[in-house]
Amino acid sequence: MKKTGRMLLVLAAAFFLFSGFFALDKGGFQADSLAEWISQVKNNKWISSVLADDRLSVLSEKSARGDAHREAKKALEQWAAAIGGRNERAVEQWMEPENNKQIIRRLAVAPISHVKIKLTGAGNLETAQGEAILKNVKAEIKYRYNGGKESEEYPMIRSFDLLKRNGQPWKISNYRPVDQPVLFEMGETKARKSKNFLFFYHAQSEPQIEQIIEKTEQAYQEIGKTLNAAGNPPYPVLVYPKESMWQGGHTVATASGQYFINAAGYKVTNQFVSLNMEALEQSNEDDSVYTTLKHEIVHVYQFPQLPPYVPVWLLEGMAMYYSGDDMSYVFKGSDGMERLNEIDLTKLTASEKLGEVGFGVSGRKQQQEYAFSYCMVKYIIETYGQEKLNDLIQSYSSTSWSAIKGDVPRDKESKNKYKWEAVTTKLTNEYLQKHFGMSEKQLEEHVKQKIKQANIQ
Ligand SMILES: [Zn+2]
Repeated sequence: MKKTGRMLLVLAAAFFLFSGFFALDKGGFQADSLAEWISQVKNNKWISSVLADDRLSVLSEKSARGDAHREAKKALEQWAAAIGGRNERAVEQWMEPENNKQIIRRLAVAPISHVKIKLTGAGNLETAQGEAILKNVKAEIKYRYNGGKESEEYPMIRSFDLLKRNGQPWKISNYRPVDQPVLFEMGETKARKSKNFLFFYHAQSEPQIEQIIEKTEQAYQEIGKTLNAAGNPPYPVLVYPKESMWQGGHTVATASGQYFINAAGYKVTNQFVSLNMEALEQSNEDDSVYTTLKHEIVHVYQFPQLPPYVPVWLLEGMAMYYSGDDMSYVFKGSDGMERLNEIDLTKLTASEKLGEVGFGVSGRKQQQEYAFSYCMVKYIIETYGQEKLNDLIQSYSSTSWSAIKGDVPRDKESKNKYKWEAVTTKLTNEYLQKHFGMSEKQLEEHVKQKIKQANIQ
């Protein structure tokens, strides 16, 4: 997801650039103007600066520019090592103190280690009177959580400006998050270990953290028993005290992981849970924190067992069913019937997230799609039994790569579409037919009938 987002940004910039250029040259595009077009691109300072942006080849250039970039790269590597070593003095040495005081402190006390930096964009060099500045140097930074698994490196994309004054070493003058800021950049992050989790939280959450730890462990035990599954702890849990720090959209919590998929199969790493405490506390239901924890922990157990092309309604329906989050009330009464009629299972199967397609404001749409996902899983379990649901899941997990590879689009083609759309649609139709003897449409109708009947009684 993050990767796609970044690619889109680059594409958008390139598109903007070229459309701007054509606006300058509306006279037509004859064959003999191609050379002129290229020379204009090269000679236009603004255009060439944009084009030069991501050229890492500058690092091997034998020129003042190449020297500057190589030195700056070294400075960034030292800076990353200083963060990993939790050495505030050393972090400070590589950052301009003005504007950076807070972030120096936050990075130096961050509960992370093994910080590595890899340049992804060289940025642009500007020089003036004894000062040189490298703007917009982009890098991917990978780090490990203290106490986390050795194999798990969490990546983030950051952008830097570096400054060199009168023969002094290069220093970071600006540090900017390009994708989501992480908890440790937002304030002093405290860390606590429990049996199966690593909790990272803001000082503001100190009064609640004991209870959160206790409930998380309890949910982990309970769901593990229900699903008869073994996890692969420890899992990080990031506790955000304020919605303004939260990056998870209209959600109270998220469970994330990274899929690696190839012909041999798939594996999941970098799993973690994030909690939006402000939203959780505003909920008027008594045990919403515990229900939410159970929901996310179902996902924690699910991810390694379920490939990324399992339909989202099945993932979410299971998470709700096993956490006891009965949302069938959404379809009660005549308003409920209207909401039910708006549901289109084919569209749900073809989407990456719930609340993505179709109708209404996003909150309502999302709510009814979650509710219908719950009803789907409940119907399958109550009509066919738990075993049949397991069989369905097993079919997804044991699908061979050769069966799906023809339907997996390359990144370029998928753009902001759901990458697994074709695979998910095809497999879901096939497996529903196989295990329940009906098409997706037929199953949808059965579930809707069941909801309508419950409404009449
Ligand atoms: Zn969920």
